[in-house]
Amino acid sequence: AKALGRNTYTCFTNEMNTAIKRRLAIEEQMHTALENNEFELFYQPKCDLKTNKIMGAEALLRWNNRVLGNVTPDEFIPLAEQTGLIIPIGKFVIERALSFLSQWQATAKQNYSMAINLSPSQFRDSELLNFIKRTLDKTKISATNVELEITEGVLMSAQTNIQHSLNAIAALGIKLSMDDFGTGYSSLSYLRQYPFEVLKIDRSFINGITDNQEDCSLVKATIAMSHSLGLTVVAEGVETLAQQHLLAELNCDLIQGYFFSKPLPAMQLLCFEG
Ligand code: C2E
Ligand code: CA
Ligand code: CA
Ligand code: CA
Repeated sequence: AKALGRNTYTCFTNEMNTAIKRRLAIEEQMHTALENNEFELFYQPKCDLKTNKIMGAEALLRWNNRVLGNVTPDEFIPLAEQTGLIIPIGKFVIERALSFLSQWQATAKQNYSMAINLSPSQFRDSELLNFIKRTLDKTKISATNVELEITEGVLMSAQTNIQHSLNAIAALGIKLSMDDFGTGYSSLSYLRQYPFEVLKIDRSFINGITDNQEDCSLVKATIAMSHSLGLTVVAEGVETLAQQHLLAELNCDLIQGYFFSKPLPAMQLLCFEG
């Protein structure tokens, strides 16, 4: 029993070591990733269920590093938040996504919109709003074609000026979107307090809608509630035709997910026939 205990302990510390080493390696590599041009944006189209046409896309960050290979955003974004690197990385995302949008609109001759994810600490940067304004000017993109996706984390981060920041963003004409709706604690009160225009139902609810009556009821009620509040509803993580049909029946406005399209590199989205 003692031997087993010692082995278990050794094993545990090895695992911890591996995790800590990886974390350190990510932090170290992330410092030079921007200047080495290792970040790329992929774009996942959003499809209008009434017209079956693309309305816009969500920018999703990808990182390929020569030492670490591909690192997923779920792994590196939290570390970028902790180290403060999310500020320059976030600026890169805003700039790249809006300049791509201007190219995409011109190529397709469509009034597409672009959704960008924002992390809590980006709101702690007093420069954020000015940076967005300058980038809109530079790319000649209309604020009404830009959507900022935020999660409860942003609203919970206990900042006194968050209300002010969100109002200022909305006053520019930029749309605020509540991401991952349904997964948090007080999403409903946030909807009442802040100027949201779009609600994205989390993919964990969409997953079960065709087999699970409860998930279906929750999604149906969320869509009805959103519409009575004047919000546009996006269903995330739609993976099957059956889910798409059911969401159309439930009056959902937009869908996003692997069934319609995975996130694509810029070049592929420019050639996409939707
Ligand atoms: P999110 O904003 O909820 O983005 C949706 C995630 O679901 C993306 O993962 C997307 O690739 C994935 N997805 C889309 N359709 C499907 C589907 O049909 N099935 C499944 N299983 N997954 C689907 P990704 O790209 O790995 O991003 C993960 C998270 O990282 C994002 O979640 C977002 O919170 C964060 N993130 C990504 N890019 C950025 C960024 O530029 N800035 C910030 N602050 N966060 C980002
Ligand atoms: Ca998002
Ligand atoms: Ca989401
Ligand atoms: Ca998410």
